[in-house]
This record gives sequence, C-alpha cells and structure tokens, in this order.
Amino acid sequence: MHTRTRILVTGGAGFLGSHLCEHLLNQGHEVLCVDNFFSCDRQNVEHLLDNRRFELIRHDVTFPLYVEVDAIYNLACPASPVHYQHDPVQTIKTCVHGAINMLGLAKRLRAPIFQASTSEVYGDPEVHPQTEEYWGHVNPIGLRSCYDEGKRCAEALFFAYRRQGGLPVKVGRLFNTYGPRMHPNDGRVVSNFILQALRGEPLTIYGDGSQTRSFCYVDDLIDCMIRFMAAPDDITGPLNMGNPGEFTIRSLAEQVIELTGSRSIILHKALPDDDPKQRRPDITRTTEQLGWTPSVPLREGLTKTIAYFEAMLRKG
Ligand code: NAD
Ligand code: UDP
Repeated sequence: MHTRTRILVTGGAGFLGSHLCEHLLNQGHEVLCVDNFFSCDRQNVEHLLDNRRFELIRHDVTFPLYVEVDAIYNLACPASPVHYQHDPVQTIKTCVHGAINMLGLAKRLRAPIFQASTSEVYGDPEVHPQTEEYWGHVNPIGLRSCYDEGKRCAEALFFAYRRQGGLPVKVGRLFNTYGPRMHPNDGRVVSNFILQALRGEPLTIYGDGSQTRSFCYVDDLIDCMIRFMAAPDDITGPLNMGNPGEFTIRSLAEQVIELTGSRSIILHKALPDDDPKQRRPDITRTTEQLGWTPSVPLREGLTKTIAYFEAMLRKG
C-alpha cells in the first residue's frame, strides 16, 4: 500500500499497536486508532496526538464500529497472561465479538483485514518448531483457554469470511515480541526481568527455567505486519511471525543480568498451569511469501529495551 490510505488499528494504543500507528504515519497514511485502554497506558500514543493524520477513539471492539477506512489491523486484545486472565469472559468477548465486528466492517468496506493471532493457538506444542500446518495442543478449559481458544475461534471466523465472501484476510500468528512500550506491570517475562534487574530485585523464574521461548524485537514484527498487508490478496496466511532464535528462560535471565550489570539473584517460583514447555516458529512460509526475516538479534533488542526501561525509571 504505497498511496495514502486511511487505516484502522484496533488496540492501537497498546504495545504493538502504538509502534504500528507510528510506522503507518511515517509512511504518510492516515491512522484511526481505536482502543478501550483495557491493558495499556494512553501515554503510548501521546506523542502522536499532534499529528493531523492521527485520530484516537475510545471504543470497545465488542461493540460495532461504523467508520470509513481502507484497511484494518485488528490488534485489540490483552496479550499478557496477567491481563487476559484478569477478566477471562471479556477476553473471549474481545477475541470473538471483536473479530465478528471488525470482519463485518471489513466486509462492508471490502477492505483487507489483518488479524493479530498468536503462537498460543499451538498451545503446549508437541511439534517443534511449530509450522503453520500444526493444529496445536490446547487445553480447552484451562487458565489460558480464554485467550487460546478465543484466538482460535477468531482464526476460524477469519477463514469463514474468506471462504464465504472472498474477504481479503491476513492472519498472522505472532510469537513472543518485546521492546520499548511493553507495559511495565503486565508480567511478561522480558519486562519483568529487565525491571527486576534494574531495581536490584530477584529475577523470578517460574519453574526450573528450562522452558523455551523465541523473542522477536518489535521493529522486526511491525515490518512483517506491513509487508503482509501489502502482499496480494491471495496471501492470507496463517503465517508465523517471530524470531526463530530459541532461548531458555534461564538463559534470558542470565543475559538480562549481564547486560544491565545487575547484582540481582535468581528466585524460582511455581510454574503457572499449562505453561508451554517450548516454542519456536518455523518461518519458512513467511520468508517465502513475504521475503521477510527478522534482523535484530536478542542482545541488541534487549539493550534497546533496557535503555527504554532505564529512562522510564529515571522519570519515575
Ligand atoms: P497490549 O495489551 O499492549 O495491546 C492490546 C491493546 O488492545 C491494548 O491497548 C488494550 O487496551 C486494547 N484492547 C483490549 N481489549 C479491547 C477491546 N475490547 N476493545 C478495544 N481495545 C481493546 O498487547 P500487545 O502486545 O500490543 O498485543 C497486540 C496484539 O498482538 C494482541 O491481539 C495480542 O493477542 C497479539 N499478540 C501479541 C504478542 C506479543 O508478544 N506482544 C504475541 C502474540 C500475539
Ligand atoms: N516467566 C518467568 N518469570 C516471569 C514471567 C514469566 O519465568 O517473571 C516465564 C513464563 O512462565 C513463561 C515464559 O517466561 O514460561 C514466558 O512468559 P510470558 O508471560 O512472557 O509469555 P507466554 O507464556 O505467553 O509466552
């Protein structure tokens, strides 16, 4: 999409949404940012409010939205286990009713629509690394199910709209992403470890720390989203979006301690129920279809994220 278009970003004031809005504005587009501020701080987009091509609307996507736009990125949904488990019913409503409302809007406008799906659709995977063909291993009634099954239902809705009405849908399965503007209290591992290290508090490893995750720096992920939206209509996904570098949680803790020069110790806590043991995207299909590979190594991304949280703590 190279000509100027009006683009809706739901969840646009969140961690990823705020970066996406910023990138789209930098490309010269008009951006309509919709958010109910459930899991974000409106400060994330405060710096964009003076831009005449940016508009911020407080709205809950579980209710219909009547706007005129050329493309939709549907990111609205709390993403961290702490936030999405806080009000599981609302999480399911946001995933399912939110998808129905945004797909209805896209259908009326004949607009391409991107869905921020998740590696959680693979649950605690028995196939490693995860390819898009894998159907997943999800506990349908566990603590994570409000999010996992909500996102799976949203994927089903996206492909039903595609089959029935030929809607140009784009489903991206995002793996763990980190960077500046992560919410300091949302309990995600990267923000937790960095803040704990900077404050000299113990780093809390859940379980023995042998579980793995693959961490993608936010700029790489946003680049992937934008390429996906610009791709032809028959590129629908699902596409894995993430960095295939795989690290144990223990090694992440050690890297954060080293990079911050912290004297923090490591404290083991109980592993939450249904915590996936391993996770790594196979991005072969994404690379083939979008020509995308992530370029920011973990240490470099961590260094930038540490600098962000250091500045945040200095401001108080
Ligand atoms: P975030 O919590 O920072 O952002 C989500 C935004 O959605 C928040 O601003 C929140 O207030 C808003 N929101 C929640 N419910 C809403 C509703 N009903 N109506 C309107 N707005 C609502 O999380 P994020 O990390 O920026 O994640 C963005 C999207 O990407 C989410 O859909 C998430 O599931 C997906 N995702 C993120 C990651 C990751 O590692 N960050 C991984 C996989 C998937
Ligand atoms: N985790 C941890 N300490 C923390 C926060 C998280 O050991 O302070 C672990 C968590 O149990 C999981 C991994 O880090 O195994 C990633 O957790 P996060 O909540 O960031 O994302 P998700 O589990 O959704 O991948």
